[in-house]
Amino acid sequence: MATPLPHPHVQAHTHLPPSFLDPHHLGPWGIFLQQVDRVTPYLGELGRWVETLKRPKRLLIVDVPIHMDDGSVAHFEGYRVQHNTSRGPGKGGVRFHQDVTLSEVMALSAWMSVKNAAVNVPFGGAKGGIRVDPRRLSRGELERVTRRYTSEIGLIIGPNKDIPAPDVNTNEQVMAWMMDTYSMNVGEASLGVVTGKPVDIGGSLGRREATGRGVYTVAVEAAHRIGLKLLGARVAIQGFGNVGSVTARLFAESGAHVVAVQDHGGAVYQPAGLDITALLAHVAAQGSVAGFPGAEAVPPDAFWDVPCDILVPAALEQQITASNAGRIQARLIVEGANGPTTPEADDLLQERGVLVVPDVIANAGGVTVSYFEWVQDFSSFFWSEEEINERLVKIMRGALTTIWQVADEHKVTLRTATFIVACQRILHARDLRGLYP
Ligand code: GLU
Repeated sequence: MATPLPHPHVQAHTHLPPSFLDPHHLGPWGIFLQQVDRVTPYLGELGRWVETLKRPKRLLIVDVPIHMDDGSVAHFEGYRVQHNTSRGPGKGGVRFHQDVTLSEVMALSAWMSVKNAAVNVPFGGAKGGIRVDPRRLSRGELERVTRRYTSEIGLIIGPNKDIPAPDVNTNEQVMAWMMDTYSMNVGEASLGVVTGKPVDIGGSLGRREATGRGVYTVAVEAAHRIGLKLLGARVAIQGFGNVGSVTARLFAESGAHVVAVQDHGGAVYQPAGLDITALLAHVAAQGSVAGFPGAEAVPPDAFWDVPCDILVPAALEQQITASNAGRIQARLIVEGANGPTTPEADDLLQERGVLVVPDVIANAGGVTVSYFEWVQDFSSFFWSEEEINERLVKIMRGALTTIWQVADEHKVTLRTATFIVACQRILHARDLRGLYP
């Protein structure tokens, strides 16, 4: 038999950041290091453990070879990073994207540690990714990539070790394949190994909407605190995936006007408010918000100039930068995405008096309901959607209240306050457990 040729989709390189400890390397990991440096002065005695946060506990790079439908063999590069497990097992999503790098997964895993501590769920932080454009794969190819990746990272994941979940371009079906692959390998149905599963195989009611619902909940709370009325407020949303679309629907239902939405295909603007139900149907049929009838098309960069009161970045990292932060008209930014704002942009927004509710609290609704799912799987007792949503709102509001108090006390941004609360919790656990051996 002839040796299979490498597939043309393949881009297999190890995307290693230059140094774990270089905060000047402004990839996502460098940004995380800067964020840690900013809070170190507030950590008191616990500051002696801060190095723990600057070094991920465990990094795994795996080769993911699969048979493509055309008979060739393609290799993709996969990652799973466990940033910290002081407070519990690693927890965080898996993203499929052609531009995923190790630096990015390291940062995302670290933000999971901070996020999980900020909402006080008993998890450490982890994240995974595969450098693949899932849009270019058939369903069969996507399943094979998912299963092989799961098998490769099977060494370090498990219901008590590290629990993956959906993230960019992964969904309930991908989680079902991951759960099945892991279960086949260990010889038992392991429900708790991933969250964000379909409800019929141990998933939780309310999980699909949870991140968007959490974003909306903290947005309402923050708007109230700064005297911004939701009724008639103009909202712009970047990203119309699982997070952006749910957030948009909840805003529209509450009487706010979602005036602009941007996704990978373009941006649309309608000052009277977009019809979100019709926009969802358009996206289901066309694959993008672009071309939505009755709305004005907006060039990509002009999205940041649209007149709005609330801005929700719900796409990828490093979208709000020094080059657009000065033009943003919103009074309130609520980060649905992970890492959408660079540190320079953060400073500019603070100078301009724009309030930023950071990712590590704003989008924590997803992992909060993942925690509920994990608990339900272990107890084999499932809760009603009403119960889930009530508990979610309670946790999100409580976490925001704590962070707001810390921000007032130290006169710092909500991001720095969230890092102070979360890093203290992580390093306190580190301190209690001590070093082994
Ligand atoms: N991927 C989501 C996040 O970034 C959810 C992670 C989880 O549920 O474990 O928070």
